[in-house]
Amino acid sequence: MNTPLLEVRDLCIDLPLAQGGLARAVRHLDFELARGDTLGIVGESGCGKSLTALALLGLLPEGARVSGSIRLQGRELLGLPEREMATLRGNRVAMVFQEPMTALNPVHTVVRQVAEPLRLHRGLSAAQARARAIELLERVGVPDAARRADAYPHQFSGGQRQRITIAMALACEPDLLVADEPTTALDVTVQRQILDLMRELVAERGMALVLISHDLGVIARNVQRLMVMYGGAQVESGPTAEVFARRRHPYTQGLLRSVLGGSARREPLFSIPGGVPIAGQWPEGCRFHPRCPIAEAGRCDSFAPPLAATGEGGLSRCHFAQDPHSLQAWHRGPREETGA
Ligand code: SF4
Repeated sequence: MNTPLLEVRDLCIDLPLAQGGLARAVRHLDFELARGDTLGIVGESGCGKSLTALALLGLLPEGARVSGSIRLQGRELLGLPEREMATLRGNRVAMVFQEPMTALNPVHTVVRQVAEPLRLHRGLSAAQARARAIELLERVGVPDAARRADAYPHQFSGGQRQRITIAMALACEPDLLVADEPTTALDVTVQRQILDLMRELVAERGMALVLISHDLGVIARNVQRLMVMYGGAQVESGPTAEVFARRRHPYTQGLLRSVLGGSARREPLFSIPGGVPIAGQWPEGCRFHPRCPIAEAGRCDSFAPPLAATGEGGLSRCHFAQDPHSLQAWHRGPREETGA
């Protein structure tokens, strides 16, 4: 059997609490990706998506404790000395962040920033790296790239800055691209262009993509597989179209309903009642039970459901995953089309 490009097994992340002690923020996560695979991770803020992304790049906050295994082409990344991790980051594994200005240095020209990983990881000369950086800026659609290469990040629009960070991330042709809410700060038209571009580049270069978003609509159009996270754990996963068609978890149903909204039906916008508890304050039993419309007293508030196969190539962590009738709580009328 071929070794997967990325193999994540039993990943747990504990964060330090202000009052002392640790809170488990990511619990027993398992997934794998082959070259060319695209995986979307969705969930509200505080569900563990971004921590998972940071763990893949060895960028967890100070004081975080991580256990389990993250293997890239069979090589274990957890426990790797920072010196060795730095040779992989921006080289074999790259990241696109939500806010491009956090990834770009305001006092360096854009061409210098795109060229830097090429000099660092590929040993290109200054002239070679500059020429390649301009090619990359052109490829990601920065207008008039050769003439504007020596401009600074603030001289570009938000969408152009995000294209520049994508050029930086792709400079060394990484095996794995992790994009954490890459379009949240952009308007809808630019958002679509950026996502189309990332999808094209991933296919063109045979990379694997992990796309993190709180927006199921974005995920629907851009990834083959979907993992829904709540309470630091995977609550549903499977082929994107299957998850959207079957929605074997009330949280997935609620997220999707809130994305599709009521505008098409002239209904009020839907939101899942309540909020995500802070790490360390999760309830007993199913972590979603205080917000779940079909929670069963004595069962959901006492026993944590296992992650079980749904029979459609997917998994769901709900006591009622095998009972589609009981899972209809948030549906009124025929199900919405997702375009997935
Ligand atoms: Fe809701 Fe119970 Fe399923 Fe949790 S296990 S999602 S509380 S029905």
